[in-house]
Amino acid sequence: MNQHNLQSVAFPILDETQISQLARYTAAEPKKFRDGQTLFAVGDHNINFFIVKSGEVEIVDYSGDEPKTVTIHRPGEFTGDISHLTGLPAIVSGVARGDCEVYEVTGDALRNALNQSPGISDIILQAFIARRQLLRESPDFTGLRVIGSRYSHDTFRVRDFLAKNRILFTWVDLETDPNVDRLLKQFGVTESDTPVVAFGSMLLLRNPSNRQLADATGIRQPLEDRVYDLVVVGGGPAGLAAAVYGASEGLTTAVLETTAPGGQAGSSMRIENYLGFPTGLTGLELAGRAILQANKFGAHLSVPTAVKGLSFENAYTIVHLDGGETVTAKCLLIATGANYRRLSVEGSDRFEGTGVYYAATLAEAQLCRGSQVVVVGGGNSAGQGAVFLSGHARQVLILIRGDDLYKNMSSYLVRRIEQTPNIELIRNATIRRMNGDTHLGSVDIVDSKTGEERTVATQGVFSFIGADPRTCWLPPEIERDAKGFVRTGADLAHSRHWTSVRQPFLLETSRPGVFAAGDVRSGSIKRVASAVGEGAMAVQFVHEFLKHM
Ligand SMILES: Cc1cc2nc3c(=O)[nH]c(=O)nc-3n(C[C@H](O)[C@H](O)[C@H](O)COP(=O)(O)OP(=O)(O)OC[C@H]3O[C@@H](n4cnc5c(N)ncnc54)[C@H](O)[C@@H]3O)c2cc1C
Repeated sequence: MNQHNLQSVAFPILDETQISQLARYTAAEPKKFRDGQTLFAVGDHNINFFIVKSGEVEIVDYSGDEPKTVTIHRPGEFTGDISHLTGLPAIVSGVARGDCEVYEVTGDALRNALNQSPGISDIILQAFIARRQLLRESPDFTGLRVIGSRYSHDTFRVRDFLAKNRILFTWVDLETDPNVDRLLKQFGVTESDTPVVAFGSMLLLRNPSNRQLADATGIRQPLEDRVYDLVVVGGGPAGLAAAVYGASEGLTTAVLETTAPGGQAGSSMRIENYLGFPTGLTGLELAGRAILQANKFGAHLSVPTAVKGLSFENAYTIVHLDGGETVTAKCLLIATGANYRRLSVEGSDRFEGTGVYYAATLAEAQLCRGSQVVVVGGGNSAGQGAVFLSGHARQVLILIRGDDLYKNMSSYLVRRIEQTPNIELIRNATIRRMNGDTHLGSVDIVDSKTGEERTVATQGVFSFIGADPRTCWLPPEIERDAKGFVRTGADLAHSRHWTSVRQPFLLETSRPGVFAAGDVRSGSIKRVASAVGEGAMAVQFVHEFLKHM
């Protein structure tokens, strides 16, 4: 969508009929605000939604050095962005300019109206998505400020956590940014305090943990004290699909996610084989839309919430969280996916996050601009990573252990690699050693056929060498195969856990009422579409199970 179209989608004008329809669905009454009065302020939770009847509402951004006007809403326009549905705090403020009259709508009433009126829902949701995109792309919007070095593990972790959770922020690199000294002085901190996180003129945190970041940004929402129909562990494509289908079909649904919704797919910069998106889309975009959809239907997403274990009481599953809390579920879906295998190369641990990466997104690409990078692996994720990085790095070297790239990679990706001039394929190659002091400087590569060794200068190694299931948190009651993937359905036909009275549903594990979907499941196809399909199917089996509970 070009900038002009994006602006018109972001700021539509509702006509009289649409306004009165919306007012009727939400039972909203007109309300007056005087000049200068604040309708909602940055940081407010559960903010209301306002439709301007007369006068003007200015949207103000306080995140940079000076307050800036983002836009002015006039009669027929409405305030808000995706925070209304995700439950995140407001990132801008709304102030009456001149006396104005608005319809004020609560978050719950807005959600109801969106579910009841598809026409208005389209206009509002598209506007919310477009507004967030405009802010993300605006050079004038600062958001949170993260000040830290490109060579710091913690700076990388903080940036990674914020990016994956779609929190808008600007990174101030201690090594290169001309404003660093001024900003450190302004916030009363030194280099040794970094990474620090600030908003506007306020210092928020010094080297925060992910949990502290989540609390400060408001993305951590408390779980309700209730028995959920469905608790989903893992917010990747499988878990998000289950959340959308579960919540939309009336199940009380919670998703517990340890880092950020999106899972592995969230680290893909171009998914081209997902049905319905012929030009491809980024994993973050797909996940962002799925989160919005799950929220719209009332699913509860809890991040960062790591599940440490399960126990069983009568027919219920008790989910044990990091920190000692528990959540009770009638049905549980295991959707914890898989983790990229760590490189076992001398020196690699030292450079993790500062030279060795297990994803290739904009966050990592920013660190390698104009330099030579090495991609390890011969599967689709390595191919995608190489193609994406070729747009940022000067040169990309792909190392594969065998000699045929077509063996494990889709042909369309191999052809794209062959046609990209700054990608070089190195066959029969492995990394023997990583060299550098404070940061990665080079790697020693060995040719497995000739034994020849050579040193390649690089500041970034991107590894995609296969994945292991994330199942170490599961109790022995949940059967797994030799590699640790969760067994389901027919795989358990002869299991001692099942009798001839009832056989497990297709995605049911060795424990009745506990299901598994996506990459974590034994025999699954490691694709976004299949994970989404399995997440949706699991909900059908949950309904069947609950009928007889
Ligand atoms: C870089 C890359 C590119 C890819 N590109 C494509 C592509 O183009 N097309 C395609 O079809 N597939 C692609 N894939 C594969 C695809 O992303 C996966 O098959 C898919 O994401 C699997 O979804 P999932 O929900 O099963 O698991 P995951 O995506 O792995 O999600 C699991 C989630 O569970 C969370 N979790 C794990 N343990 C816990 C715990 N104990 N408590 C709480 N939460 C937990 C994780 O943080 C994660 O968010 C790609 C993968 C990668 C890494």
